[in-house]
Amino acid sequence: MSVTPAERATIARAHESRAMARARELGASVLGTTSPNPAVGAVVLAPDGSTVGEGATQPPGGPHAEVCALAAAGERARGGTLVVTLEPCAHTGRTGPCTDALLAAGITRVVVAVPEPTELAGGGADRLRAAGVDVELGVEQAEAEDGALAGWLTGVREHRPFVIWKAAATLDGRVAAADGTSRWITGDAARTVVHRLRATCDAVVVGSGTALADDPQLTVRDADGRTAERQPLRVVADRKGRLPATARVLDDAAPTHVSRAADPAALLAELFDRDVRRVLLEGGPTLAAAFLQSALVDEVLLHVAPKLLGGGPSLVGDLGIQTIANALAWTIVDVTPMGGDVQLRLRPTRHTGGRPHADGGS
Ligand code: ZN
Repeated sequence: MSVTPAERATIARAHESRAMARARELGASVLGTTSPNPAVGAVVLAPDGSTVGEGATQPPGGPHAEVCALAAAGERARGGTLVVTLEPCAHTGRTGPCTDALLAAGITRVVVAVPEPTELAGGGADRLRAAGVDVELGVEQAEAEDGALAGWLTGVREHRPFVIWKAAATLDGRVAAADGTSRWITGDAARTVVHRLRATCDAVVVGSGTALADDPQLTVRDADGRTAERQPLRVVADRKGRLPATARVLDDAAPTHVSRAADPAALLAELFDRDVRRVLLEGGPTLAAAFLQSALVDEVLLHVAPKLLGGGPSLVGDLGIQTIANALAWTIVDVTPMGGDVQLRLRPTRHTGGRPHADGGS
């Protein structure tokens, strides 16, 4: 049986879709190491659809994902397709333009999820098309934007880092018992996830209240419990200068920034200037409330333990909400059983009515 052109196109699409899913994974695998650059993934397919090269963005100053994937493919890239989560750059920054590398390698088709949003690096697709390359933009764009590129895109669009609020609570939303004890509300599995999550972020933020009450070290430990080589910036929001010099967060295990910023927006501006693009908010109820009231939480990772306390501080402090219509609304992205606990991943519900997050309120 001969294969018709239509069937051939369908088969090529399937190969490209599989490669795009892999490119998203590759991008996610380098989160926490690329800022202020985007965490991009790229896959090179040979003309027969087989994968011949993979790459992801290297730390600043290092090669981009496309160049890594082309290097892995070598001569096998000739006549092939590059599948990539972000439009290849056309400008010379600390590295040469990826468009030139693609042309030199003999790539004939480029499949892109997210068109480049900045003017500086833009024009890649036009340049490739002018050289005769078949370029398709916007393929599975939403999936790529919600994944590893979310933090970088927030930086481009809003000039601030992407904020993930991580919290652990009981069924009745308590984060500690009446006597203040909180270790450990959730089990080992949830705590392991927190260390992996910290490693994907550029900064971990707590308030001085949490630093005083729990004296956390806020470092990333690897699977063996040792301090990991790469550590996110530790940040303490300490407007009133209450943090004692003996706090564990000030030890030499990782860099620390103590901020006197007056509000969450000012704190995020400080971090943005330090090339931070992904922030993990681990503060207590007071700091969480401040970020929520400023509409500066982009994602919530909530670990719920099947326990009841009936008293003690609740997950979030007073939000100034008097009636149910004004409740902050969240959309569940996924629910994951985690040891004996459950993880909820939430994003703000962006619609009109109530008190929308999208208005950037105060
Ligand atoms: Zn590039």
